[in-house]
Amino acid sequence: MVMKSRGHRKQILLFLLAVILPSLVLVVFTLRMISQEKELAQKRAVDERRRLASEIGQHLLVRLEKIKLQESSAAANWIQLSAKCDYVNPEVVLIGLVERDRLLLPWEENQKSEEFRRALSSSNFSRRIQLAEKEEFAKKDFLRAAELYRQTVKTAQEPVQRGYARLLLARALAKMGRKKEALSHYRGILDLPSRVTDEYGIPLSLYAAGRLLDAGVGYGEVLECIRTELGAKRWLSPAEFYMLQELIERLVNTASEESTQDTANDYQRIINEHIRKLEQALELQGDFQKIAFASKQEDQGRRGESVWISYGEIPWLVSLAPPLAGSKPLLFVVDTQDIHASLRRDSGFSETFPGEFHFITRERSEGESLVPNFRGLKIAFAESDDTALSKPWSFQRSFYLLALLLVLSVTLFGAYLLWRDVRRDVRMAEMRSQFVSSVSHELKTPLTAIRMFAETLRLGRSKNLKTQAEYLDTIVSESQRLTRLLNNVLDFSKIEQGQRIYRLQPTSLSEIIQASVRAMRYPLSQKGFELNVHIEEGLPDVRVDKDALEQAILNLLNNAMKYSGESHEIDLRLERKDDQALIQVTDRGVGIDSREQKRIFEKFYRVPMLENERIVGTGLGLTLVSHIVKAQGGNIEVESAPGKGSTFSIYLPLESKQ
Ligand code: ADP
Repeated sequence: MVMKSRGHRKQILLFLLAVILPSLVLVVFTLRMISQEKELAQKRAVDERRRLASEIGQHLLVRLEKIKLQESSAAANWIQLSAKCDYVNPEVVLIGLVERDRLLLPWEENQKSEEFRRALSSSNFSRRIQLAEKEEFAKKDFLRAAELYRQTVKTAQEPVQRGYARLLLARALAKMGRKKEALSHYRGILDLPSRVTDEYGIPLSLYAAGRLLDAGVGYGEVLECIRTELGAKRWLSPAEFYMLQELIERLVNTASEESTQDTANDYQRIINEHIRKLEQALELQGDFQKIAFASKQEDQGRRGESVWISYGEIPWLVSLAPPLAGSKPLLFVVDTQDIHASLRRDSGFSETFPGEFHFITRERSEGESLVPNFRGLKIAFAESDDTALSKPWSFQRSFYLLALLLVLSVTLFGAYLLWRDVRRDVRMAEMRSQFVSSVSHELKTPLTAIRMFAETLRLGRSKNLKTQAEYLDTIVSESQRLTRLLNNVLDFSKIEQGQRIYRLQPTSLSEIIQASVRAMRYPLSQKGFELNVHIEEGLPDVRVDKDALEQAILNLLNNAMKYSGESHEIDLRLERKDDQALIQVTDRGVGIDSREQKRIFEKFYRVPMLENERIVGTGLGLTLVSHIVKAQGGNIEVESAPGKGSTFSIYLPLESKQ
């Protein structure tokens, strides 16, 4: 046993050294390789993102430069013509003139207040208005005032003058209580084009709209007027924006019709959007000095290339263009999101850069820098792009992992085989040791009986002849049992060494059966067993080893006796079954569980049940039977049910091979 366990230890050690250790090293190396590959792939992805960012930056710069160029040449015209702010490129938010280091916002350049003042100060017109106002406010003679206003309307030369006088006329009429007339005038003013404005750039029509809403009429017309204003392709002045916002708010609060409400709500959204832009534009105006400074600083490094600085909550890109010959410098403001969308729409661009990305303008956000011409603008790529970049890596990783898995499973399988082997060896060693104790036990029982009866006879204690004969029979039967046991052990060792030789001769099976019955008669009768023998006559001789086959049958009969439990009946049959001879031993004893039936033929195997602990045995009997039967060209089968009994059947071919 000591030798054995030492052998196992050596086996396990060798296995550890030869398989487990290299596998562990392999696992460690593979894991390291995987992590290195991962780092490499990440680095590659970062490099790739940088490259993409810089290329996209170039594209963006080219696009912005083009916009700047187009707008500059367009601006050259409109600056001289009027304050129109209808830009060529939809991405442009505004273009502001820079005058004496101050940014002029689009609405500030328009000349309307001047126009208005000029129109109102025309001596004739202003005199008439003053007169009428005197009547209206000082004398409270509204009729007279209205009359004077009416004349002024008639004589007015310019639309602004006419509109203004008409507003005052409507006011005087309203004071007189001639509401209907007043409203019709307001409606008339509502139809005036929006370029007829006061000194704040507010169209006169909006004043009329306010009056109509005061009276709770003309919602549809007012909405239409607002729509025209919102759709105007020019920057409205802040005053006009706020006036519009107030009108819309009143509409939202007072309109009863659902459709009017809905439209008013829509307009409210639009105007709020406009006002956000307007407020950001005003902030930009405030921050202009800073931007101009930063831009100049950057400019020095760029040598003529333009610099775009990101600005504001609504992300804008602003760039200062140096003055062209004879004109003032311009500040270009472009909407970052709009330019992103227009870049994406460009089919050439989206083919070159198919992945998703967006621009980031917040400070300290993670993202890749574009070309250095952009300040505060970064680019972020969508997650899907990252995975696309790391695709080859994920393939490689799965390959490594698969290989690792294979190695590990082979190792585990090897370990399992070794474990199974060792377990089998240990079990065998246990069985062998159990076998030694069983054999000594089995030897002892008959020897004790022989000795006891022989001594009794020698002492001549028993005078009775019958008893003496019985004693002698017992001695003979026990010594036969001893011989059988020893034969079993010896035969087994020969089988193990491959030295068991069978001498096959044509033999009558019924003779073998009868010889076995004779041999077992005494022990059977002594234990009160009834043996039912049935032999079919006329079976031809079969080429078998007579002694070996008898030994097999005796073993089966012996087992039937041992495992019969309470029952004392055994059947022994010989019959023909097709072209085979069938020898059957049946008992009605303890039976064998179906799971154990396959194993009972293994060497040293004994069914682990309580009864077996009391019944002595070596676990060799059936091993021998099976070996003998197979050596005769036959086979053995068992049919058994626990508690019901067992039938062992030996099949032998009748036309035995020569
Ligand atoms: P042994 O009888 O010496 O233990 P065997 O090889 O003859 O060894 O039998 C192996 C095992 O098969 C026995 O231990 C017993 O559990 C079971 N066995 C054999 N014959 C019978 C039988 N006729 N009825 C029930 N169990 C049997």
